[in-house]
Amino acid sequence: MSARILVVDDVERNVRLLEAKLSAEYFEVITATSGQEALRRIRLAQPDIILLDVMMPEMDGFEVCRRIRAAPETMHVPVIMVTALSEVEDKIAGLEAGADDFLTKPVDDRSLFARVRSLVRLKMATDELRLRLQTGRQLGVLEPGQLIRDQDPRNADILVVEYSEISGRRTAEILAGDENRVTVVRSAAECLAAVAGKSFDLILVSMDLGEDDPLRLLSQLRSNKITRPLPIVAIVDMEDKERFEKVLDLGATDFLARPIEKSELLARVRTQIRRKRFQDQLRQDYEQSIAMALKDPLTNCYNRRYLDAHLGGQIADAHDKGKALSLLMLDVDLFKSVNDTYGHAAGDAVLVELARRFTVTIRDFDMLARYGGEEFVVAMPDAGPRIAGMVAERLRRAVADTPVLVGEQEIGLTISIGVAHTTQAADRTDLLALADDALYRAKADGRNCWVDAGDHATAQMRDAVG
Ligand SMILES: [Mg+2]
Repeated sequence: MSARILVVDDVERNVRLLEAKLSAEYFEVITATSGQEALRRIRLAQPDIILLDVMMPEMDGFEVCRRIRAAPETMHVPVIMVTALSEVEDKIAGLEAGADDFLTKPVDDRSLFARVRSLVRLKMATDELRLRLQTGRQLGVLEPGQLIRDQDPRNADILVVEYSEISGRRTAEILAGDENRVTVVRSAAECLAAVAGKSFDLILVSMDLGEDDPLRLLSQLRSNKITRPLPIVAIVDMEDKERFEKVLDLGATDFLARPIEKSELLARVRTQIRRKRFQDQLRQDYEQSIAMALKDPLTNCYNRRYLDAHLGGQIADAHDKGKALSLLMLDVDLFKSVNDTYGHAAGDAVLVELARRFTVTIRDFDMLARYGGEEFVVAMPDAGPRIAGMVAERLRRAVADTPVLVGEQEIGLTISIGVAHTTQAADRTDLLALADDALYRAKADGRNCWVDAGDHATAQMRDAVG
């Protein structure tokens, strides 16, 4: 997972130290040594995450953070405050200025990487939504100037999972003081039953659940469709350093150390709720306004018009960020014979079922579009040849391994796939052409297979040399 990280600190030595640590983990690092410089760098270089020193002359970290949050084009960028002080008041001031998280100097490597990785995942999901919204605007489907306002962080439905009855009650009382509606449960089973029966805005999970394994519960909540998009805050014992990293890797969006400090609990919960509502609004604006106009009515995938409009933006974004984007072009083998043998209604049913299989096989932020009759395209942001090849193989098997059932009829099908990458193509037309060439090669190779345009070029050279 690559990301561009801006490190801001007025002490050059601190900047270099963090830069070295992050570069060693293959993050791209840019730096600034003052608040003013940081704001300039943010506008020009569009970092994915900002590590921000609190104590700086002239403009301190709190003020920088407030300005980042006030500007519509930067308000969504995650900010981690880095402070020499571990005073609770500083944390609260930072969270209230809009920081997502905190690290205390000297910065511990493991908590640094765990927090950065967790925020990069969040940023990627938000970016993809913002980009889609932008495409909607370009097509004139959305009203221009539809602003995402600062979200109200109160009045939320919160589920607290806490084995200790006393702790649970105390946490609930603090949260209820912020006009939230709080449900407290005491076990993993009760938690899963609660989320199935009611929708929540946030879940707080204690890492002490008596007989139950709280880490297992975390990963269950992350793999569950209903709870996957929810912020999950883990409550961890202060001494349990190992857990901090583990809970973030398992999908908690934040954690709190015990003993729970009232204003820190409220500040962290507000930050998470605000973020969730921001994302919800992005998703809602987007879905309501454009999905209808830009989807293929048969398969409910995006249509070609949307792909043509969106892909250019995705490629430009990939080039800007120095990331790879991969494109898969899929074609159902010998599809004409399905229509000829079983009729067009059966042909349509087959396409609907294949689109469903493609949708559940690709990653959440990949985009599936119906490109033509029985031709589909998958655009995969932040994926190079290895991941694209893995997904192509999964897609191939999703079709070849299980016949499609239409009425009583089992229809055995296969697909061929061409794979291309932005590292090989300058623009949308080139990229589509490369994928198309690779698809043609896959057909020529006997179908039911995928071919990477890179390997294709190598093979052509080999053929040419003889
Ligand atoms: Mg400083």
